[in-house]
Amino acid sequence: MNTERNDAPAASNFIRNIIDEDNRTGKWGQRVETRFPPEPNGYLHIGHAKSICLNFGVARSYGGVCHLRFDDTNPEKESVEYVDSIIDAVRWLGFEWEKDGKEQLYYASDYYDKLYEFAELLIQRGKAYVDSQSAEEMRANRGSATEVGTPSPFRERSVQENLDLFRRMKAGEFKEGEHVLRAKIDMSSPNFNMRDPVIYRIRFAHHYRTGDKWCVYPMYDYTHCISDALENITHSLCTLEFEDHRPLYDWILNELAEAGIFTRPLPQQIEFSRLNLTYAITSKRKLLQLVTEGHVDGWDDPRMPTIVGVRRRGFTPESIQLFCERIGITKVDSWIDMSVFEGALRDDLDEKAPRTAAVLDPVKLIIDNFPEGVTEPCNAPVHPHHPEMGVREFPISRELWIERDDYNETPPKGYFRLFPGNKVRLRYGYVIECIGADKDENGNIVAVHCNYFPDSKSGTEGANNYKVKGNIHWVSAAAACPAEVRIYDRLFKEPQPDAGGRDFLEALNPDSKRVVNAYLEPGAREALPEQRYQFERHGYFVADRVDSKPGKPVFNRIVSLRDSWGKPA
Ligand code: ATP
Ligand code: MG
Repeated sequence: MNTERNDAPAASNFIRNIIDEDNRTGKWGQRVETRFPPEPNGYLHIGHAKSICLNFGVARSYGGVCHLRFDDTNPEKESVEYVDSIIDAVRWLGFEWEKDGKEQLYYASDYYDKLYEFAELLIQRGKAYVDSQSAEEMRANRGSATEVGTPSPFRERSVQENLDLFRRMKAGEFKEGEHVLRAKIDMSSPNFNMRDPVIYRIRFAHHYRTGDKWCVYPMYDYTHCISDALENITHSLCTLEFEDHRPLYDWILNELAEAGIFTRPLPQQIEFSRLNLTYAITSKRKLLQLVTEGHVDGWDDPRMPTIVGVRRRGFTPESIQLFCERIGITKVDSWIDMSVFEGALRDDLDEKAPRTAAVLDPVKLIIDNFPEGVTEPCNAPVHPHHPEMGVREFPISRELWIERDDYNETPPKGYFRLFPGNKVRLRYGYVIECIGADKDENGNIVAVHCNYFPDSKSGTEGANNYKVKGNIHWVSAAAACPAEVRIYDRLFKEPQPDAGGRDFLEALNPDSKRVVNAYLEPGAREALPEQRYQFERHGYFVADRVDSKPGKPVFNRIVSLRDSWGKPA
């Protein structure tokens, strides 16, 4: 796989500035260790790609390592299927979690014993207590933005009583919701996260990795910072919604450092803004809904903004890395227009995609003065700017397929293609002059007729004697490869489908998938799955990684050559 993007110099950003400064002061020696911490409760999406490119990219460029860690503390929603899909997605994007031969792949669930042990330690140090209020009481006593919280009547339980209750919670003696373990911090803190957050709850749920061993599960905030510290993470990069959680992150690690568990410096949480992409949604819950309600054909539907979806659509890992570089890393929440994502794909593939001809809406073109039964070779560069990519050869014959809209009986002003009496060049072939067309009883065009000029062939001296404005692509009818081509477009017709809590299903684009029977240049017949081409005049296409087979290709349109969606709203 081509991973040249990975070594391109990365643009500076505030996170790199922090790391540079840490390296200058020697805070971590010169160590840079990051982590990407997905919860295996769904497929990764393009927003995750931003976090992946940042975490793995930063580690790589500082000679460090990025851990892949599954943050799996919600047994009800997590599964091996999701773990496998995440591993695949990160690898495909071009990243590894290995350093010096050691795999840095972790699961928060592997820390359950330690997390439990540390929770007992916090209890012993008077920093955590078992609360036996109901969920409603806890909510009511939490206070509000203008009112401080009310301490739980159980807040002053003795260490002994807390330990006993917590152990019995673990032993399965209580029902779900009967007790929770809370950190004892500050019920009057202006920050809600510091008002004695719950750190353990009872759940009689089967966990995909630990099975039925546990009936108490640690909360995300408690687990995350400890996992970071256990793995010696230096810079813990996360999205802005965790900014208000940072004091809790620091509090927990500080308490455990005071207890002698961790040494300083402690991992530093740094927040950046998440990716919001127009014409897409990046909420796992809503993506799941699209799948389960059948609005798309699965997680890897080429219209889905999941990594498997954009992969199947035909996006390259390099284009996604390029996109992430271009959008940069800041603390400002903003929307990135879909055209930036598509533009990165165009820029990546323009340089490397072989060109080929494909007729997506075919109509016959008959060259009346071309001898029947004769085929003649024509050739064209595989890539117009890269002669080293070679030459492609394809035959011309009396009957060709051309695009239906390359003929127009009553041409509008500025139309330079086929109409009776007009001359155009058949790309890499001959100049022809249009005669007219045959129609069926309903007036539909069934064949266009023309004559060719035998001395006008591209690449010969005679070609220079012909000056024509139109230049159309074609494939020989006898040699063409018939293929199913799926013309994909944006899944949503509005830039912010779920803005303001709106029903995003109403914004679904009814024309996001159209299937056509096309004719391809013969060379595309043996396309391997995931092979990409520029179909001349049309856009970038990929042989579908699931349905396409050499000899019987099926193509997906990745993007058209130019953005037809115009300016963002
Ligand atoms: P959930 O609601 O299930 O927590 P999530 O999108 O936060 O959804 P995680 O699996 O927790 O999913 O995310 C893993 C990492 O990816 C987190 O560090 C998170 O901050 C980051 N991430 C998620 N969505 C985006 C996004 N749109 N842009 C950038 N980073 C993101
Ligand atoms: Mg999350």
